[in-house]
Amino acid sequence: MGFPLSLDTPIAHPGPLPAEADVVVIGAGIIGVMTAWELARAGLRVVVLEKGRVAAEQSSRNWGWIRQQGRHPAELPIMIEANRLWRDLAARLGDGLGLRQAGVVYLASGPGDEAKHAAFLQLARDHGLDTEAFSRADLARVLPGAVGGWTGGIRTASDMHAEPAQAVPLLARAAAADGVVIVEHCAVRLIDVAGGRVAGAITEQGRIRAPAVVVAGGAWSSLLLRRHGIVIPQLAVRATVAATVPLPAVTEGAVADNRLGWRRRQDGGYTLGPDAFHQFHIGPDAFRHLRAYLPTLMQDFRHTSFLPVAPQGYPDGWRTPRRWSGEGPSPFEALRVLNPAPHMPVVAQMARDLAATYPDLGEVRIARAWSGMIDTMPDVVPVIDHAPSLPGLTIATGMSGHGFGIGPAFGRIVAALVQGHETGHDLHAFRFSRFSDGTRIDAGAGM
Ligand SMILES: Cc1cc2nc3c(=O)[nH]c(=O)nc-3n(C[C@H](O)[C@H](O)[C@H](O)COP(=O)(O)OP(=O)(O)OC[C@H]3O[C@@H](n4cnc5c(N)ncnc54)[C@H](O)[C@@H]3O)c2cc1C
Repeated sequence: MGFPLSLDTPIAHPGPLPAEADVVVIGAGIIGVMTAWELARAGLRVVVLEKGRVAAEQSSRNWGWIRQQGRHPAELPIMIEANRLWRDLAARLGDGLGLRQAGVVYLASGPGDEAKHAAFLQLARDHGLDTEAFSRADLARVLPGAVGGWTGGIRTASDMHAEPAQAVPLLARAAAADGVVIVEHCAVRLIDVAGGRVAGAITEQGRIRAPAVVVAGGAWSSLLLRRHGIVIPQLAVRATVAATVPLPAVTEGAVADNRLGWRRRQDGGYTLGPDAFHQFHIGPDAFRHLRAYLPTLMQDFRHTSFLPVAPQGYPDGWRTPRRWSGEGPSPFEALRVLNPAPHMPVVAQMARDLAATYPDLGEVRIARAWSGMIDTMPDVVPVIDHAPSLPGLTIATGMSGHGFGIGPAFGRIVAALVQGHETGHDLHAFRFSRFSDGTRIDAGAGM
C-alpha cells in the first residue's frame, strides 16, 4: 500500500541552478508544469523550482477525473477549453497520459441531488455541453450491472479521465524537451524582492534572478505568500484514495454517488475515493480563516473528520515556522513531499461499497491506497491573479480539489497573465481581492 508515483521519475535537470530566467515558477504540479510549458513555447526562458519531486503531491495522487460536469459557472468555459487541450496533448504524447473519453456520471439519491443536477443541466445547455439527465428507468442503460437506490442522475459523455501519476511526469518531460528547466529538490525559501518588485527567488541552491515569479505551490502557497505579507485564506484537507486490483470492466467511465467515486484505470482496476469524507487537521490557519470558511463548513460538516493537531512540518502545523530567512532552511525543505497516511477504514468501506454496487464483481481487493492534501479556498475556486502588492508576482493556487482536469487551460491562462496578454476568459471569480473587498463568499456554486 502506498504512494502511487514511481519515485524513479528522472530528475529533469540535475545541473546547477541557472543564474537567471525570464520567469521562475514555484512548484512542479500540473499548474506549474503547464504554465511553464506555455511560457517556454512563447519563447521565454523558464525555470520551475520544485522542493520535492515533479507531481509528488496532489498532481499524482488525485482521482484523475477531467470533468466539465458539475463545474462552477466561472470555471466551466475554462474547463471546456481544458478538455480540448487534453485531447491535443494525447494526440501529441500518446497513451502514456492514460486519457479516456468515457464520460462522467453523477447519480442522484434524492431531491437535493436532483435540484443540483437540474441547475447544472441548465448551465451545461447555456454552454452547448452534452450533459444529459436520466431517470431511474434509464439506469440499466447508463450503468449496466449497477444496483443502488438512485433516482436518476446526469451524464456528460464528453468528460474524460487520465492517469495522473503517469500523466504529469510525462507532461513535465515534454515541457523540459521544449526548453523548460525543471530543478527538483530545490525549495524556494523566499521570493527575492528589490525596489518593491519581484527580482527572482532565493532557493536552497542559491539565488536566481527573474523579473517574474509564479506561485503554483499547491498546499504550500499560502505559507510562502504570508511570509511576504500576502494573505490568501487557503487551507488543506486530507483525502484517501485506493486502487483495486484488475477487475472486469463494469464501466469504462467515472461515476459518483454520494458515498463513492469510481473510475476505470488503464491497468484494469478502479480508482476509488469516498465522495464525501475528508479529514481536516486543525492548525493556526484554521482559526485565522474560520470566518471565511463558515459557509463551506456548514455545508460540509458531516463529511469532515476533525483532527486536533496538524502534523509536524505540514503547511499549517502548529510548530511550522511562519518566519524564516533566505539564509537558513525553510519549512519547504523540512518536508519535501506531503505524503499523509490513507485512512484504512475508509479504504475497506470503499471496497465493500464497490462490491455492493456491482454484485457481479464478487470480492473487491485493494492493490494500493494513498492519501493527499487537497488545497482549498472558501469558495472552492482558485486564485488566478497578479499579487497587487508585489509587481512581477502571479498567484495560481487553491485549485480546491479539481485542478488536475482544468490544469492545461489554467496553465495557458496563467502564462498569458504573466505576459500581460488577454487570457480569453473572465477571471473575475478568481481575483485575489475577493476575500477583502466585501464580496459574499458562496461555497455552493460547483459540485
Ligand atoms: C485525493 C485527491 C483527489 C483529487 N481528485 C481530482 C480529480 O479527480 N480531478 C481533478 O481535476 N482534480 C483532483 N484533485 C485536485 C488536483 O489534484 C489538484 O487541484 C491539482 O493537482 C493541484 O495542482 P497544483 O500544481 O496546484 O499543486 P500540487 O500538485 O500540489 O503541486 C504543488 C507543488 O509545489 C511544490 N512546492 C510548494 N512550495 C514550494 C516551494 N516553496 N519551493 C519549491 N516547491 C514548492 C510542492 O512540492 C508541489 O510539488 C484531487 C486531489 C486529491 C489530493
